[in-house]
Amino acid sequence: MKTTVAIVRCKDYTPSEVRAAVREAVDLLGGMGRFVPPGSRVLMKPNLLASWEPDAAVCTHPTILQSLLELAASSGGECSVGDSPAVGGDTPGALNRLLKKTGVQDVLADTDAAMEFFAAPGTEVDIEGAAVFHRIPIASAVCRADVVINIPKFKTHALMRLTGAVKNLFGCIPGRRKVGFHLQAGDNPSMFAQMLLDVLMAVRPALSVMDGVWGMDGEGPSAGRKRQFGVILASEDPVALDAVACAVAGIDPMEIPVLRLARERGIGETDLKEIEILGVSPEEVRIPDFRLPARGDLVSRIPTPVYRALRNQLVRSPALKARRCTRCNACVRICPVHAVSRIKGRLRFDYSRCIRCYCCQEVCPEHAIYTRPGMIKIAVEAAQAVAKWTSDLLKREAGYPG
Ligand code: SF4
Ligand code: SF4
Repeated sequence: MKTTVAIVRCKDYTPSEVRAAVREAVDLLGGMGRFVPPGSRVLMKPNLLASWEPDAAVCTHPTILQSLLELAASSGGECSVGDSPAVGGDTPGALNRLLKKTGVQDVLADTDAAMEFFAAPGTEVDIEGAAVFHRIPIASAVCRADVVINIPKFKTHALMRLTGAVKNLFGCIPGRRKVGFHLQAGDNPSMFAQMLLDVLMAVRPALSVMDGVWGMDGEGPSAGRKRQFGVILASEDPVALDAVACAVAGIDPMEIPVLRLARERGIGETDLKEIEILGVSPEEVRIPDFRLPARGDLVSRIPTPVYRALRNQLVRSPALKARRCTRCNACVRICPVHAVSRIKGRLRFDYSRCIRCYCCQEVCPEHAIYTRPGMIKIAVEAAQAVAKWTSDLLKREAGYPG
């Protein structure tokens, strides 16, 4: 039987519209009863990256979360919500402020669902068939749950290019223990993607429902263009869900490291021809001019020793828009290698230490951190553009069709 992915239109976050769209998406997959047996412990894992209001298109919108909680409860599930936000969730007071700002606090009050903060140390999980990390700490609340429902946001990501259903599960690594995994994966997208697939094998969500009503392209996951995509996607297979999200965005799934490696490892389904689409087709909801974050394929083809030597000139580096900075120091606290510091009141990046995880950009509440390309990369891309322009010109002059 083919893997299925449901695509349903949803133009905005009007609660009645979201409820109907979420129900339709889940019904297309066979209904919530297929995933949530009566009396089961259900854990919802939204994307609560940091303290952003619902309209910022950074976190999973509370109306999507609420609709899924209501559906799961009506199937007899005992529901809770869990995550370990990258920033603003490390103390009870900060977590409460984050829950209030993201709108999750009201959802918890309306639905009587409990909040589970994914605190360290978590539970060590052995992963059969892991590629890199054979033992990973997973939040104990995830391990206790009978059913995990994964609720990602449809966004781009500086390191992984797209953050969808697979990437959202990174939040199941409890609290600050995520930092260690960032450190081990470094700025190597393939290593980070392998780790995400290992986490997927440890968590194995029963259902993933993607909030693509409003999403983000460009310099996501928090500093990109907020855009109305108008869709909700759902699937049992998070890999297939992300592949179909690529089709909706008009990009090749193989451009996304986690999907390329999932295909190599035989995890989930990445071949769009092998996925049955239920509801509307990707073409009907195609997002025009979807922009991935700039990270050239060039970089991934360079041998590692050369890459290490030239890294600062090849990959994008975090940089500051000083006028926007409110000196909250969230970037200083999140950096896993202490490459951001405040010296005499000014923020400094130590590029010799920086592993390009882009966590600082992710957590900056003021969009004060952007990424700028290295000089070699600019020069190579300029040369490629000139070569293409010259070749097109010669073809036109010789009378070849485009
Ligand atoms: S750059 Fe952003 S996260 Fe860092 S101190 Fe300034 S406002 Fe805070
Ligand atoms: S400076 Fe930013 S991108 Fe570099 S390692 Fe620190 S958090 Fe990651």
